[in-house]
Parts: sequence; structure tokens; C-alpha cells
Amino acid sequence: VIGRGFYVKVMLVKLKSNGVFYAIKSIQKARLLTQQKLHTVLNERNILVKTDHPFIVDLVYAFQSPTKFYLVLEYVPGGELFRHLKSRKTITLEEARLYIAEIALAIDYLHGLGVVYRDLKTENILLGKDGHIKITDFGMSKDLSFLEVTYTFCGTTEYLAPEIIRRESYSYPIDWWALGILTYELLFGRTPFVNENRARLFHAITHSEPTFPDGADESAIDFIQKLL
Ligand code: ADP
Ligand code: MG
Repeated sequence: VIGRGFYVKVMLVKLKSNGVFYAIKSIQKARLLTQQKLHTVLNERNILVKTDHPFIVDLVYAFQSPTKFYLVLEYVPGGELFRHLKSRKTITLEEARLYIAEIALAIDYLHGLGVVYRDLKTENILLGKDGHIKITDFGMSKDLSFLEVTYTFCGTTEYLAPEIIRRESYSYPIDWWALGILTYELLFGRTPFVNENRARLFHAITHSEPTFPDGADESAIDFIQKLL
């Protein structure tokens, strides 16, 4: 087992016939049904079927049993960007520049397909064996091709854009906001808006400007300020 979530277990497996490793994400139907989240796995599967990009994880097979859905993904061996950040605190400007550029290309590609990603955060960014990133986890993504905007309140609190918190209609720009939060986190070791209290956190996100540590790179500050 290499990953776990409330609905989800991710296992490293080897196909016996050719020795190739894959990551199988299995999702329990009963839990999805009781939480009325069945559409999330269908979205995830449908979006992964239509994507083909070097910085997005490949879906190889999808099938189901009476109790579970299975998504067979290419195995990305380098671990989560989150873990690297935790073990090293921050990342150099050079590394962050490469990771952020790659994530931006993947996000722009998704938007071009009409998909809003909605769950950009360090746990969902994996490192390939070549050191390049792969975005995984499309469980929160949504196809907006025929909708243009959406309203669902979802995502991870620290990364939520102001328009989601204000319960307004929102669209692709929320992913660029989250990229601003992620860039800040990569460079400074924490997200820009933090508060144990959810209401205060939401107030900070909707009302305050991010502050930067002394000596922070001017162009990085400018980039983050423009995204936020
Ligand atoms: P959840 O929807 O529960 O967040 P994820 O799809 O993010 O599930 O998978 C949970 C964790 O499993 C990820 O954060 C990552 O550590 C690991 N994981 C997911 N997909 C892969 C993969 N293709 N290769 C390697 N590890 C993976
Ligand atoms: Mg995840």
C-alpha cells in the first residue's frame, strides 16, 4: 500500500507477464454511495481517459468489481512533492521554477480541455524517476466544457480561492490561485494564509494580502502576488 484516503487505497502492483509496475487506485463503492460521491470516480475516470500529457499521470486500465472501482495508473516512483518539502523544508528557487512551470503547463492543458483541476496541493504532485512532476488525483476535477462555471464548495482549505469561500460561481482561475499558494509553500515552507480557526482562515484568504519573509526573491514575490 503506497497511499490511502477515506474512499481510496493505492497499491503498488506488478504485472506478472511483463514485470511492469503500476499503481492501482481502488475506491470503495459503498462509501462513495453513502456520501453521494459516485460522480467523483466517474469524473476521475472520464477525465483521465481524455488526457495525454507528460506532466499528468497516465491511466492504463479501468475496471470494477461488485464492491470496488479500480484505476490502474502508471507508477510514479519519486513520491509526493509534499514529502520532499517536509523532509527539506523548502526548495531552491531553481527547483521551484521548474516544478511550477511544469505544473502550469499541465493546468493550462487541462483548462484547454475544459477541465478545472480543483485539488492542486503538494500531496497530489508526484515526482517521476526523471525528476519531472506528474499530477495525480482527479477525484475533485470537473469537466466544465458545457458549463463554464460551477458552484460546488470543495477543495482543501488552505488552497481555496476567495470566490469559492464566498460561495460565488467560479471557474478555471481557482487553479491559478492554488498555484500561487503552492508556489509560496514550495519557497517558504508553509502556505501564505494559516489559521487553526477555519472562520479566521477564510477571513484571511478573502481579506488579507500575503506577507513575505525578509530577503524573499523580488520576482517570486511578484509572481505570487499576481496569482493571488
Ligand atoms: P485521494 O483521492 O484519496 O487523495 P490520490 O489519488 O491522491 O487519492 O492517491 C493517494 C496517494 O497515493 C497520493 O497522494 C500518492 O502518494 C499515492 N499515489 C497516487 N497515485 C500514484 C501513482 N500513480 N504512483 C505513485 N503513487 C501514487
Ligand atoms: Mg490526493
